[in-house]
Amino acid sequence: MTYTLFCFKIRLPVIAYLREFGGKNLPWTEGTGSMGVVDEVKERIDIVDLISQYVPLKKAGRNFKALCPFHTEKTPSFYVFPHTQTWHCFGCNAGGDVFSFIMKKENMDFREALRFLAAKAGVELEKKPPEEIERVKVLREVLSVAADYYHRLLTDPEKGAKARAYLEKRGIRPETAEVFRLGYALDEWHNLEKYMTGLGYKREILLEAGLLIQREDGSGVYDRFRGRLIIPIRDEQGRVVGFGARTLDPEGAPKYINSPATPLFDKGRLLFGLDMAKESIRTQDMAIIVEGYMDVIQAHQMGFRNVVASMGTALTETQLRKLARYTKRFALALDPDVAGSEATIRALQLAEEALDKEAEPFIDPRGMLRFEERLKAEFFIISLPSGYDPDALIRESPERWEERVENALPMVDFYINVITQKFDLNSPRGKAEAVRTVIPIIQGIPGEIERDHYIHKLARLVKVDEMAIRREMLSLRRRKSRPRAKPTPSKEKAPAFGLEEYVLAQVLQHPHLLELIEDQMRALAIPPLDEADFAEVENRVLFGAWKASLDKGISQLEAFVDTLDPLLQERVHFIMEKARNSPPVPLEKLEQEVLNCALRLRGINLHRYLQEIRFLQEEAQERGDQEGVAHYLDLVKSQVEELATVHRALAQCSGEKARAV
Ligand SMILES: [Zn+2]
Repeated sequence: MTYTLFCFKIRLPVIAYLREFGGKNLPWTEGTGSMGVVDEVKERIDIVDLISQYVPLKKAGRNFKALCPFHTEKTPSFYVFPHTQTWHCFGCNAGGDVFSFIMKKENMDFREALRFLAAKAGVELEKKPPEEIERVKVLREVLSVAADYYHRLLTDPEKGAKARAYLEKRGIRPETAEVFRLGYALDEWHNLEKYMTGLGYKREILLEAGLLIQREDGSGVYDRFRGRLIIPIRDEQGRVVGFGARTLDPEGAPKYINSPATPLFDKGRLLFGLDMAKESIRTQDMAIIVEGYMDVIQAHQMGFRNVVASMGTALTETQLRKLARYTKRFALALDPDVAGSEATIRALQLAEEALDKEAEPFIDPRGMLRFEERLKAEFFIISLPSGYDPDALIRESPERWEERVENALPMVDFYINVITQKFDLNSPRGKAEAVRTVIPIIQGIPGEIERDHYIHKLARLVKVDEMAIRREMLSLRRRKSRPRAKPTPSKEKAPAFGLEEYVLAQVLQHPHLLELIEDQMRALAIPPLDEADFAEVENRVLFGAWKASLDKGISQLEAFVDTLDPLLQERVHFIMEKARNSPPVPLEKLEQEVLNCALRLRGINLHRYLQEIRFLQEEAQERGDQEGVAHYLDLVKSQVEELATVHRALAQCSGEKARAV
């Protein structure tokens, strides 16, 4: 048997579909508290670490195995999959994520498990107390007062002369210094400290704001920034949250120092210049991302206002999400080495994946319910002449900068160019690596025709058969469709509304549907819908609770919601709200629709399960364990049969619907 069996198209056809993309109400801008917390916990807790605190895990290839803690057995059938952050027991068929494990193992409900895991992960669950809010207010005030003070020093005829001379040399005009509120810190150890304490601010808060540094022996404090040009860093709303400071000494090192991490200053979440760039980014429908403060300042001075800087770290998903509120088109003006580096490619791929997760249900012209991905982000790379950064290029010739921006290459073209230089395309290994590097980017392109174009281009370049590339794409997509891969830093991710949520919304609204669907599934020789069909822990818990509630005779949604934990209540409200906003399905079609979706959910679930088995089988193969291979083959067979049943049922469903239309 070969793996072509897995090529069943289970996932819904994902068609590029553009919905009101005004730019304002992008789906991920509606921050909600609860999903944030759950996601944050999942991000911070590694399933292998967690489970190994309960059961001794043994490495089995890429995965881990153990004797199942939930049933008695002599040979291990309990597996932990680090790449999906899930676990599964092939003996008793239990499985899930970190939450499911803790709920089962510690016998906790969802809320308790969340508390438990949040405490472990160091994630705060509760809303901030008033003292905390007050403290942040004072911190903001302190930073703003300090920024004003530094700025006054810069404009002081005598004291600021050296810094002003430096700015002039860098071609920064006084008006620009004014707009960015640039400043100067005197080359003294206690200047700012004296000024601020003179105003009544305590040293403690100045330390917390990162303005002072405590001596190591604890004997006192001193000013962090001395004899440097001060660049206030503001958040999106224009509030000062920290400072960058550049030495004025040509030999001085380090060239730049920044505020330390504080409750307000988190480099991974900030973009320098965004407060001033956001309107232009929106109107020009493009954000240009550069590396340095000076690049931004110079660009804005010359009227290129849609430019922001990434704060000297690799671009983070959070930063891109922020920008995505204003545009979905990003152009990166990076050092060619940086832009071509694997770290950048990986960061961009991660970002792209994160940005296009949202799937929205809609009814197509034939009356079929479909889920479509939102318009994806577009990335461009601005290539700079070697030896130039944006600051230098703009200063030398704004026209040349403009030209480079206009000729920015779509990311795919850029990387296709990069790989020709980077990989040895004459060796099979080089070819494979090149193909694997570019494929995820090609897959991110909306539009079949465009994708075809690039597949063709890649095939020609690497000199491999187009079909080989398509096969590789298929196998990569299968791997990608697993629940979630670490690491995915995404504190701000808004909850998704996909197939799971849709099914949940329908059965919550129409309790009788659930029973009808379960009967139909049984009639089709398919086990009825189960909690385990839901991959997201909240959906899983909600579905289980709703079923239990119906069994107890409580079918009133309000009464049910009242019994829920506040976090889950919020989740229900979110799901219902989204469901209300999606196109209505005529009642007579509803049962069919929901059955269809339930079957798809089962298909996805089986598919996930098959992939887990596939990994184990591959591992067995690698270590030459023929018995293991045979065992998994049996498992695969039975799962594939079940999957085939689901498929027949799905085909039947759509057949009936097609006739009905
Ligand atoms: Zn078990």
